[in-house]
Amino acid sequence: LGMPAPVRQQAFRRPTRQVVVGGVPVGGGAPVTVQSMTTTPTADVDRTLQQIAELTAAGCQIVRVAVPSQDDADALPAIAAKSQIPVIADIHFQPRYVFAAIDAGCAAVRVNPGNIKKFDDQVKQIARAASAAGVPIRIGVNAGSLDQRLLAKHGKVTPEALVESALWECSLFEEHGFRDIKISVKHHDPLVMIAAYRLLAASCDYPLHLGVTEAGPRFQGTIKSAVAFGVLLAEGIGDTIRVSLSAPPVEEVKVGHQILESLGLRPRRLEIVSCPSCGRAQVDVYKLAEQVTAAFEDFPVPLRVAVMGCVVNGPGEAREADLGVSSGNGKGQIFVRGKVVRTVPEHQIVEALIEEAMNRDWTTATE
Ligand code: SF4
Repeated sequence: LGMPAPVRQQAFRRPTRQVVVGGVPVGGGAPVTVQSMTTTPTADVDRTLQQIAELTAAGCQIVRVAVPSQDDADALPAIAAKSQIPVIADIHFQPRYVFAAIDAGCAAVRVNPGNIKKFDDQVKQIARAASAAGVPIRIGVNAGSLDQRLLAKHGKVTPEALVESALWECSLFEEHGFRDIKISVKHHDPLVMIAAYRLLAASCDYPLHLGVTEAGPRFQGTIKSAVAFGVLLAEGIGDTIRVSLSAPPVEEVKVGHQILESLGLRPRRLEIVSCPSCGRAQVDVYKLAEQVTAAFEDFPVPLRVAVMGCVVNGPGEAREADLGVSSGNGKGQIFVRGKVVRTVPEHQIVEALIEEAMNRDWTTATE
């Protein structure tokens, strides 16, 4: 079981313009940000703010709220004022909600290009109002909202159709000198989505919001998003991400952070280096790894903690870890940076790891 030290290096990033969403820069070399979207009725201000607080605590940096009705638009001033993170209003149909969102102090507005044509004549006013308020606009194209004209032209939702739609929508704003734009071209199929973003990245210098739309329940959605974002981010494409899961939005944020940490695009927090177990294992590695993960989840400094199933390969294999355990004969050898510091009965392993972690200064943690 080989476990080479991960190569951590500054990833290449595609140069883009920068937009600023309520103080959070997106693109132009800024760190990739993690977004999510509330699932509460936006008009229910208390529940929406409660969910935004939970998302913020989980590390969400920008939050989007749906605005399908006047009641939701009416709730925006209170939500924008009390949210700890910038709020983006997601508007599908009504141009007047765009103006309401800008007036309400929302940090940005997402518009749906399949419908924007209906208010072509108002694009100028929207561009003017957004510009005056310093509010960026996200052009959010997805399969369901693709313009009928482009659907007919391309025959189906292709990467080319998604990109043509997005760039056409951008041009409507550009005509009025408005370029404070970020773009998404989401699709449920990671292959289509990857091709679309690559094409878009080559066709403009706007910052890009990555998303696999309708990615599915937690497991499938996590894999699809990780694969698609991983390919694009490794190529330097993507400035802000939203993982879409049929699961509570806090899960989306956790997955988003893990994707960025895995790619070295965000400082590592907790990393569990656990072996997959094999015929040599002398402990239930799966269970122990879960227990150690739970125990260290909120540890205040970044740590790499190893959980190894046998003493034969344990400390040596995991010498890159800050601390760890290898088990055998009902005991756990606790090691710190490859050196065994103590041996404890199996039931005290988690407690001993926490003690060792608390008793040390990790400011020189490995990276
Ligand atoms: Fe490697 Fe030992 Fe774990 Fe097997 S039990 S995977 S040999 S560390």
